[in-house]
Amino acid sequence: MTFDDLGLSPEILRAVHDAGYTEPTPIQQQAIPVVLAGHDLMGGAQTGTGKTAGFVLPMLQRLSRHANASSSPARHPVRALILTPTRELAMQVHESVKTYSKHLPLRSVCVYGGVDIKPQTAELKEGREIVVATPGRLLDHVQQKSVSFNFVEVLVLDEADRMLDMGFIPDIKRILALLPSARQSLLFSATFSEEIKKLADVMLKSPQLIEVARRNTVSETISHRLHMVATDHKRHLLLHLLRDPSMTQALVFVGTKFGTSRLASWLERQGVNADAIHGDKSQQQRTEALEAFKAGRARVLVATDVAARGLDIDDLPHVINYELPHTAEDYIHRIGRTGRAGKKGDATSLVAPEEKGRLADIERLIKFKIEQAEAPGFDPGAVPADAGERERGGRGGRGHGHPHREREHHGPKAPVRLPETSAHLPKVKSPPGVFDASQPYEASLEATALAAEKADAPPRRPVRPVAALLGGLGKK
Ligand code: AMP
Repeated sequence: MTFDDLGLSPEILRAVHDAGYTEPTPIQQQAIPVVLAGHDLMGGAQTGTGKTAGFVLPMLQRLSRHANASSSPARHPVRALILTPTRELAMQVHESVKTYSKHLPLRSVCVYGGVDIKPQTAELKEGREIVVATPGRLLDHVQQKSVSFNFVEVLVLDEADRMLDMGFIPDIKRILALLPSARQSLLFSATFSEEIKKLADVMLKSPQLIEVARRNTVSETISHRLHMVATDHKRHLLLHLLRDPSMTQALVFVGTKFGTSRLASWLERQGVNADAIHGDKSQQQRTEALEAFKAGRARVLVATDVAARGLDIDDLPHVINYELPHTAEDYIHRIGRTGRAGKKGDATSLVAPEEKGRLADIERLIKFKIEQAEAPGFDPGAVPADAGERERGGRGGRGHGHPHREREHHGPKAPVRLPETSAHLPKVKSPPGVFDASQPYEASLEATALAAEKADAPPRRPVRPVAALLGGLGKK
């Protein structure tokens, strides 16, 4: 099947062609006709499946009858609302909207918290057919009366399960109450708990169900391996791995915000071009770190699960789990950052003995054993234990280590000079699409962090333990 077979207009096909897509992905093949026909849709699709284009392309086609070049705000009322759980995801979905609508005179805006509200208000007042938003900030605009939903025809709820985890459902319900009831609604989620199904019952009318790729499966293009290593030796092993020139760029996952900053600072002190991204950083810092990484200016991005959600980085070759996630499904989401769109990727996990329980959970979920590998040339006996450093390490972790002593045990005296320019890095372009999926969380530290890092609204309620994965869409 080609895009030409899907009944999309020449302007949209041209944009798809410009994006370099030759063939629709399975979710696109299934979702595009359903959305074009005006049906509601409940879509189960994992990260990297191309689901953003799956809903944006047909949505644009349906809205194109309203496209006009008038400067009057009244000619550009909000026609489509796309809600996402995180700011990064909102930005990426908005990038997709801009990419795919570039040959159509449809206007769009991205609305999210953590930044000045005024420019968004000004854009909304000028009139925008497509609004991509996080729920809290959108409600701020509703309160300020800078947006009206009387003409909304399409509602998209992206990452519904993540919305649930982050306590956004009350906000979603408030927004739903403001929308015309005659509308098309699309709900995407990676997992379908009873709560998501209840939300779907409220939001969708006779939805068509589409599910691509079984949930909790991992891309076959990703090679997995793990290194057993004491916690105190992890950062030295990481540095050792990063010395391998084939490790051109790596996204490193750490369990806590504090640990994230601390590890990035330590890597910087060792001469590694690293940045950190987590929920305590300002939105501007998060955006800048992400852009620098995507553009290849930062070689290593150290991230928490929450801040990394929404990352869609073309050709990212390596994901490193510096710490295993508390929730097994997060392993799949993390490594789904690499090996996208059929490309090869490596997922390396540094596993301390006390993480063996988490490893067992992950292996049970992915249904295979991760190969345990030696790190050639790494001698754990030759590195200093980090316990003292950890105790001394204050918040932000700056200036507490002993880089000189550490370097003694790590080959060259000079700091490891990693790529200064992006010239030889794989080409990493800013993506038109996004998304990550999510999983039911247990009320773990991660879940608490999630609530705390919510895009732009205070926690509504404690994150509830959500039941284990349910049988899937077919059982609805
Ligand atoms: P998504 O699952 O929407 O996050 O998309 C994942 C990545 O796949 C994005 O970088 C898209 O640009 C890319 N993509 C989407 N559709 C296609 C397609 N038909 N062919 C190739 N790449 C695609």
